[in-house]
Amino acid sequence: MTDADDGAPVETVGRREARSGGGGAPDEPLVRVRGLRKYYYEDDSLLDRLLGREPTSVKAVDGVDLDVRRGETLGVVGESGCGKSTAGETLLRLREATDGTVEFDGEDVMAMSDEELTRFRRRAGIVFQDPFSSLDPRMTVGDIVIEGLAIHDEPADPPADGRSKREWRRDRAAELLERVGLSADQIDRYPHEFSGGQRQRVGIARALALDPEFVVLDEPVSALDVSVQAQILNLLGDLQEEFGLTYLFIAHDLSVVRHICDRVAVMYLGEIVESGPTDAIFESPKHPYTEALLEAVPRASVEEQGRRVDALSGDVPSPRDPPSGCHFRTRCPEVIQPPTIDIPQEQYRGVMDLRDRLEREGFSAESVWETLASEHAGDDEFERDPVAFKETLREEFDLHGLTGATMDTVEDALEILVNGREGEAADRLRDAFTSPCEEEEPILTGETHAVSCHLHADEDYDVDLDPEDVGTAMGGMAGMPDGARNSDEGDGSAAPTGPEDR
Ligand code: SF4
Repeated sequence: MTDADDGAPVETVGRREARSGGGGAPDEPLVRVRGLRKYYYEDDSLLDRLLGREPTSVKAVDGVDLDVRRGETLGVVGESGCGKSTAGETLLRLREATDGTVEFDGEDVMAMSDEELTRFRRRAGIVFQDPFSSLDPRMTVGDIVIEGLAIHDEPADPPADGRSKREWRRDRAAELLERVGLSADQIDRYPHEFSGGQRQRVGIARALALDPEFVVLDEPVSALDVSVQAQILNLLGDLQEEFGLTYLFIAHDLSVVRHICDRVAVMYLGEIVESGPTDAIFESPKHPYTEALLEAVPRASVEEQGRRVDALSGDVPSPRDPPSGCHFRTRCPEVIQPPTIDIPQEQYRGVMDLRDRLEREGFSAESVWETLASEHAGDDEFERDPVAFKETLREEFDLHGLTGATMDTVEDALEILVNGREGEAADRLRDAFTSPCEEEEPILTGETHAVSCHLHADEDYDVDLDPEDVGTAMGGMAGMPDGARNSDEGDGSAAPTGPEDR
């Protein structure tokens, strides 16, 4: 337990606690999350219930397991809308979980009474993404930092040195502002008088006011200029060292986490799809989604800056209606072909994209005709031409070059589509092209470096393997050639550097 837990005053910000914790053993994770779910329900009005309508669930977080070890920084990475911020807020009980358990230092956070929750809130803080909206513009930065101390009646007793509690809190706020790189003289200023980086420093001072052990950093630098990001990251690193903090660092940018995280968990559509030590994730990514995220990271080396970056096809599907089987299969460049099909992967991806658009996105033949008509606007001779219709779709979905029975099936589907029978065309494609990835959901497997992907289902992977052995292990999977399995070396590029943010 820290001093704060005992209710004793915190005398100075410049000390480092031995974070031995409360109920949990020192070698146990500080935070242990199992099966965390956060669903939101739509169509759940009184009328819906009277009419017996089933509420629609939006699965923002869908069965997340995480261990955050004492003193480490665990990165949680994924695109916008993948559920990472919701997971961070839910494990702090800022949102109530739908299901799952969270243990903090051996205590069940979900079962905490109000009193226990108040104690927990002193030990676990959060820094929010947006330094502009997360600070109350009507409060001075001093009052913003003091607010948490006052709510928790810190210090519990009047200080022995004769200061009032109010004076003690103000002194503590001044010390914290200085510790995060601001000046104590700025204590009576308002947030609008500060730059973005300075405001984020205020947010960090606020999070540290109660001397927490664990801090969720929710995209703490993504709203900042690149030149300011490195300064805030360096500050966070220094504070972790000084105060023995444990961080959960949420980010959408892999290049940021490489330089601050000990381990990384990659999230997609509410689930963890890969987790492992930062070097293993960057140097030997296993999940196609992680590989795609790494491909999008800007490279520091001049030779690599001109490389071709294959953007992921499609958008993140709605968590209201996630795809069956592997949730990533509607975008996966390595989606597994059924045993009856053996075509270039780009073309299989194209066929699957066409089918997904027909099945999931309401794509219609009429929209293709409208596109063709708009291309011939003003042409009085324009007539609906089935040949042009099919060619448009072959171009759009990369369907050129197919041969044999595969080509016949696709051409059949295009002919059916020309006649406006979208459902039938989708059925035709589904009968012939259903992927194993859509029939069964992969499970996160592996110890140190875990992944949920059917390509790795039988893999006995060890993070300590020699890189050449890793290549051999990967090359034997599901018919994927070695070269197709590994992306370019995942250089996350150096953390940005730049001038002081004042
Ligand atoms: S299970 Fe299939 S769709 Fe999912 S990531 Fe692996 S290869 Fe891609």
